[in-house]
Amino acid sequence: MSIAIKFDDSQLEIDVDEENECLVCYDELTDENTIELACGHKFHYDCIVDSYRMSTNHKQQCPYCRKNGGWLKLPFNKKAYRYVHKEFYKQKSIKTRCIAILKSGANKGNQCKCQAKTNGYCGRHYKIYCN
Ligand SMILES: [Zn+2]
Ligand SMILES: [Zn+2]
Ligand SMILES: [Zn+2]
Repeated sequence: MSIAIKFDDSQLEIDVDEENECLVCYDELTDENTIELACGHKFHYDCIVDSYRMSTNHKQQCPYCRKNGGWLKLPFNKKAYRYVHKEFYKQKSIKTRCIAILKSGANKGNQCKCQAKTNGYCGRHYKIYCN
């Protein structure tokens, strides 16, 4: 008695879709963690951030084709880095902390963490100290 085993051809195909793997670590890319550079090459967000940060000439260079990859888009909850994200420079120039020292609450004695708006104070402290 012989048993016929039927393979479904489509299942035997190995996925060699290079479009879908990170050119730094060769792991699969998924929609959430993928970033495409200006040159069209795709990487994991974390992989390309590391690659940019390790670059000694501080160029935003694609680690694969060496072309200029451009600034990285900063995802919502990620930290901006020098030479990597435009936002790093924006943060520095815009964000000035309110100079008020808190007199009550859990952070008593610490500098206010709000963004300064007027005369070095945040909106709330400006009202308290400057009126
Ligand atoms: Zn990767
Ligand atoms: Zn490239
Ligand atoms: Zn304040």
